[in-house]
Amino acid sequence: MTETIALTIENLKKNRFGVTYVATKADVLPLIKQWLQPGEVVAVGGSVSLVETDVLPHLQSGEYTYLDRYAPGLTEDEKREIFLRSMGADTYFCSANAVTTQGELYNVDGNANRIAAIAYGPKRVIMVVGINKIVPDLEAAIHRVKTVAAPRNVERLGCNTYCQKAGHCMGVDGGMTDGCGAVGRICSGYLVSGWQRHKERIQVILVGESCGY
Ligand code: SF4
Repeated sequence: MTETIALTIENLKKNRFGVTYVATKADVLPLIKQWLQPGEVVAVGGSVSLVETDVLPHLQSGEYTYLDRYAPGLTEDEKREIFLRSMGADTYFCSANAVTTQGELYNVDGNANRIAAIAYGPKRVIMVVGINKIVPDLEAAIHRVKTVAAPRNVERLGCNTYCQKAGHCMGVDGGMTDGCGAVGRICSGYLVSGWQRHKERIQVILVGESCGY
């Protein structure tokens, strides 16, 4: 473990996040299997990290009451209902867009259902975060989203935005919320998670290799 990782873990713990370090992506699923109870209500925010660590297919296995936002044929009303029910889940899974060495989590959403659940609602939030997402401070976190996370996510989601073509945000040199005016913009809600009132409600699994974006 590098000094940067150790410092990040120390400061996340100071901010009352639970933190578990695992060396590889393959170590994530066995840990999660230990933590979950059969039948508990689980939900997810959109996350490539959950796919890369095989967490998502495990949640879909039938062992749990999985609130399936990806079920084929969902209407917009049905999807909204799942997002609302996810706020009452026992465990909510997602990743973070950036984690600072100062112990903060930074997340940006288009729809804001994920950042809403991170901020309040589910009894427990488990975040699977690769070390590629560690940055020195919030300024670097904002820059990371505008130059790495958002451009790659619009590519994945097929959104027609400035960053999809340019590879970086239209507002890369501006403030936190500066950006494009595209209908498909995925940056609308901005959440910084600092000191936690509910100690260890948010559990960060920090993975010692690159995971998601
Ligand atoms: S505001 Fe628009 S251009 Fe900027 S990162 Fe978000 S989607 Fe891309």
